[in-house]
Amino acid sequence: MKSVGRKDTAPELAVRRYLHRRGLRYRLHVGSLPGTPDIVLPRYRTAIYVHGCFWHGHDCRHGSVQARTNPEYWRSKIAANRERDARKARALAELGWSALVVWECEVANAEVLDALIGRIRRNRVRAPRAPRRPQSG
Ligand SMILES: [Zn+2]
Repeated sequence: MKSVGRKDTAPELAVRRYLHRRGLRYRLHVGSLPGTPDIVLPRYRTAIYVHGCFWHGHDCRHGSVQARTNPEYWRSKIAANRERDARKARALAELGWSALVVWECEVANAEVLDALIGRIRRNRVRAPRAPRRPQSG
């Protein structure tokens, strides 16, 4: 089983490639935002998390797999992960950011990724007016 918090996983790379192909530019693992989001699009004030279905309890067949050993332990671990995910999303929202999730089982699904890109683009931050330059000389 994959561990939580690994960087540059294959699913994450797939999402990054897709965003890049569609002309979206991002930064990675931004420590200045709550929870150090995997993928950050500053122009859209959007953070993207690529979640493993088992680890984050996705409502899909991968997410509903029962661990053979210690199922109780894993259940509480996954519940804690979900709680942490929700906390991060709230913390980002308080700063005016959106947190979007892509599930591991969806990273090859163009329809899902297109919908994601639509949501990102709607978050586009309007360019602020150019600040007045102080008069010099
Ligand atoms: Zn899933």
